[in-house]
Amino acid sequence: MKALCDIGLIGLAVMGENLVLNMAGKGFQVAVFNRTTARVDEFVNGAAAGFPVKGTYSLAEFAASLSRPRRVMLMVKAGKPVDDMIEQVLPFLETGDIIIDGGNSFFQDTRRRYIFLKDKGLRFVGMGVSGGEEGALRGPSLMPGGDRAAYDEIAPMFTKVAAQVADGPCCSLVGPDGAGHYVKMVHNGIEYSDMQLIAEAYNILRQAGGLSASELHEVFAGWNSGPLDSYLIEITRDIFAVTDPETGRPLVEMILDKAGQKGTGKWTSQNALDLGVPTPAITEAVFARCMSAVKEERVKASAMLAGPQGKWEGDREELIRSVHDALYASKICSYAQGFALLRAAGEEYGWPLRFGEIALLWRGGCIIRARFLDKIRDAFAKEPNLPNLMLDPFFTEVLARAQTPWRSVLKTCRDLGIPTPAFNASLDYYDSYRQAVLPANLIQAQRDYFGAHTYERVDRPGVFHTEWIAK
Ligand code: NAP
Repeated sequence: MKALCDIGLIGLAVMGENLVLNMAGKGFQVAVFNRTTARVDEFVNGAAAGFPVKGTYSLAEFAASLSRPRRVMLMVKAGKPVDDMIEQVLPFLETGDIIIDGGNSFFQDTRRRYIFLKDKGLRFVGMGVSGGEEGALRGPSLMPGGDRAAYDEIAPMFTKVAAQVADGPCCSLVGPDGAGHYVKMVHNGIEYSDMQLIAEAYNILRQAGGLSASELHEVFAGWNSGPLDSYLIEITRDIFAVTDPETGRPLVEMILDKAGQKGTGKWTSQNALDLGVPTPAITEAVFARCMSAVKEERVKASAMLAGPQGKWEGDREELIRSVHDALYASKICSYAQGFALLRAAGEEYGWPLRFGEIALLWRGGCIIRARFLDKIRDAFAKEPNLPNLMLDPFFTEVLARAQTPWRSVLKTCRDLGIPTPAFNASLDYYDSYRQAVLPANLIQAQRDYFGAHTYERVDRPGVFHTEWIAK
């Protein structure tokens, strides 16, 4: 071991430990600290035994173990624990040291912390980390935000730690201050809609098509070798193949239909509302989890509220193909919403975001990694200011080809009463975006009627008000 470590990491829960093992496995020497110091012993004598990892038992010892300028990575619970830990470690740091927050911090907190630390002469990098525990260990997608000079100092280490794809490491500076955590937040929003769309596809295939888990396994295996090829399709394929040892039934059927959430999808939707950017597929995915949570109410309602009784009768292979095309088209709409939000955020917060590079960051290591991100990267490489992904010729063409199956499968769902909120939101997004004329003229008339809010006209410039009824 060298006298001083290359980096220090605070927070030895699953993500922190795996990142340390990843760094140490690449030859970096890492000092570790955890609030509950018993965890330090367990880790250095357990999973980290034999690796160049130094356990420390006070923040003074931790800081003294690091080469200068120090690199201190926080992997603690997001929110107040990050502020608490910064306050506690601060007295042991010096001007020029770098703090890297790798948790799922809210981007506005990161912006605040960036300014707070800059005033104290410290550099702060808010780094989105995606890929779960497996990604942290084998190579996550890293979305750092902060100063270029600070990033350049840590880049040689983090580009090695990150997932590697054909085009290079899934790690590059996203933009200043909170940009990295913002991009991670939008990644998670897209993850919510990706997961919901897959869940809806599953529901259509089991409820309408009557497919068994083993048939679903085959269908998803096939989908994973086409344009839908992605981590989430791959794990869904695997999930359908797992049998519950207690009952002998597919395990997925034994799992209670109440989805949890930690808030990053909600943050994406809240910020989209703040910026006035429509993200209906992402937001419906968040609402779908909320709806899943009211299980007891739904069980009561299922015996009280009327709906269609019909059974689907049609060609199963055709249904499977239609659901595939509807899923692909809806997924494009959902990514289009995510990138439109990133574009608006870049303008709002003064971040020069490069969308093609962001697509590349998500190409490996993270939960939404997917083959079609190459197409997104290509689209922004051709047209960096593309206002909406759906306008790129490749995606325009895919969406055009999906029209008949996409609409027909959703008609089937309406007829059968099968809920498809994210599919519907995606198609409505598509249909709204392609309208030269929307019915907002009537809304403007109503607003002017009851509130004298005025309106513009289609035939000449100006601002107008009408006394709608004679007084
Ligand atoms: P976590 O459960 O979010 O956090 C546990 C860690 O935080 C422990 O080391 C804990 O120390 C420490 N901690 C909690 N409150 C603290 C406080 N007030 N002061 C100091 N330390 C405190 O762990 P995680 O799942 O490994 O996630 C770490 C971060 O990565 C989080 O921000 C999380 O959102 C993000 N993330 C997680 C995943 C994932 O798949 N789990 C994926 C991407 C990003 P003690 O041992 O002393 O309690």
